[in-house]
Amino acid sequence: MRVAVLSDIHSNLVALEAVLAQLGSIDALWVAGDLVGYGPEPSAVVARIRESNGVVVRGNHDDAAAGGESIESFSPDAYAAMIWTRRVIDEETRAYLAELPEAVVPEGLDVTLVHGSPLDPIWEYLDSTEAAAENVSALSTRYGLVGHTHVPVVFRQTRRSSWPIEPVLVGPDYRLDLDDRKLIANPGSVGQPRDGDWRASYMTIDTDRAQAVWHRLAYDVAATQTAMARTGLPQRLARRLEHGL
Ligand code: ZN
Repeated sequence: MRVAVLSDIHSNLVALEAVLAQLGSIDALWVAGDLVGYGPEPSAVVARIRESNGVVVRGNHDDAAAGGESIESFSPDAYAAMIWTRRVIDEETRAYLAELPEAVVPEGLDVTLVHGSPLDPIWEYLDSTEAAAENVSALSTRYGLVGHTHVPVVFRQTRRSSWPIEPVLVGPDYRLDLDDRKLIANPGSVGQPRDGDWRASYMTIDTDRAQAVWHRLAYDVAATQTAMARTGLPQRLARRLEHGL
């Protein structure tokens, strides 16, 4: 089975369409949350993912868009974008986001899909080896998939007891053989990468070959920026897209 793993699309329809077009034939689409927030086309992104039968978990921005109090902890630009998102999404989109589960164990692989971390599915940022170690041991499946930091990375168990977890920063075309070691992987962000590479980031998994591959894809950033300029979303949010930060 060939699975595409996407995360943090953030209302960037242009980036999402580019990724979907590049994917070719897949058997499943798993999305680690944050369909909306920051970008210009929230309802269209949600509709596209639903049409693609995506298995989706709830991110902090999805939660806030559906009316959750999590908006209170947002940075000023994220807050402004969220107020705008709440205003423009249609009722069907809002209801869909409100129903998203916090965690899913999808069919086809021994894996848990969450946005933040297995221990704190909506909020925790898995950006340190210490936090990853706790979460890898708490995982009830062999593998975990997360988003939220917008940085592609893997935290994998080692065979050494002195240093039980190691982070692997994964570049484009990085291939990882899945074995009996537990791990948590982040596909990076489709719609707002933050690792210094502006291109859309995502992952595919071939469950028969037990292999995960990371991908980067150039998309029309200017088109997303133009769409943002029309909405009055904070211009800083548009500019950061071309820097991948
Ligand atoms: Zn996000």
